[in-house]
Amino acid sequence: MSLLTADPRAGYLAHAEEIRAAIDRVLAGGRYILGPEVEAFEREWAAYHGGGEAVGVANGTEALELALRAVGVGAGDVVVTVANTVSATAAAIQQIGARPRFVEIDPATMLMAPAALAAALDAGPGRVAAIVPVHLYGQPADLPVIMDLARRHGAKVVEDCAQSHGATVAGRLAGTWGDAAAYSFYPTKNLGALGDGGAVVTRDPAVAARVRALRQYGWRERYVSEQPGRNSRLDELQAAVLRVKLAYLDAENAVRRAHAGRYLAQLASAPLRLPAVAAGTEPVWHQFTVRTPAREALRTHLAAQDIHCGVLYPVPLHRQPAFAATTPLPETDRACAEVLCLPVHPGVTEADVDRVCTAILRWHQP
Ligand SMILES: *Cc1c(COP(=O)(O)O)cnc(C)c1O
Repeated sequence: MSLLTADPRAGYLAHAEEIRAAIDRVLAGGRYILGPEVEAFEREWAAYHGGGEAVGVANGTEALELALRAVGVGAGDVVVTVANTVSATAAAIQQIGARPRFVEIDPATMLMAPAALAAALDAGPGRVAAIVPVHLYGQPADLPVIMDLARRHGAKVVEDCAQSHGATVAGRLAGTWGDAAAYSFYPTKNLGALGDGGAVVTRDPAVAARVRALRQYGWRERYVSEQPGRNSRLDELQAAVLRVKLAYLDAENAVRRAHAGRYLAQLASAPLRLPAVAAGTEPVWHQFTVRTPAREALRTHLAAQDIHCGVLYPVPLHRQPAFAATTPLPETDRACAEVLCLPVHPGVTEADVDRVCTAILRWHQP
């Protein structure tokens, strides 16, 4: 049996009947864009965050872009983020004409290092308008410290929550700390649609209103654009699917946590660096990411047993042609060279986890 790091089909099959019923409801209803399903999902996703507003958009990249614009980021501004993330994080910043400034990660957690952030906020050139912490692999960044630094420097915070649906810091959900949070519902995420989807979550009604306008041509009212906007709408079919899957998010995150606990216990003696969980955080294990300098050898060893692991991400953004930056980021480079993501999604069984552990424990590091 082939084991995959991501298996959106398993996520569909687990709730196939309910998903098909939801799709039928939309087909029969005749509203296909920004209708009752999107409105209901926005209410339910905001309620999941304990209040505020959620605004459905077309994907996670545009959720980031529109959230940044809504909190006031404009052309020429600097936005501080990390380089061990998917291209989307920096692409969203560039779409505005703003410039990403990459900072180093904490080698233990692989998340934004507060000391590096503090240095980047003090350094020039340009005004740092916003910070985008990425809650990578479902592990929330150090939000209390990041928020404190941001407030002292007058910078806004937009959380990249594409991998952290349901994670908490100090008992409070990631996505409720910053000025706004951007979510992706790409099919492989912890809350995944059956196509593209995204949302901005915020407690600031003015920010929510700006995102609502920006997602539809900058309309103030129908057919009247007040500002340059774009088309970034969430469709009814995806919203209906997301409503079905949202009801299972906490239970599925609990399965991921159980799998992670099983990996941590069984791999304690393996020749690997296991993921570290920062004090006070409850990750949601979008990925279970181990580290070894012999990453490619381990990956090949597992693939030979039909265990297919992901590498998120092999090339850090500061080394990609589109975002090239000269800042040295040795810890980021090392992480990207060493990370390997083991299958941890809810379609994986305990027996699967045991199979992966056995295969790793039999591996002889070259
Ligand atoms: C998936 C992802 C995004 C982008 O989301 P899309 O829906 O693919 O546009 C942004 N940031 C991170 C960290 C992601 O994992």
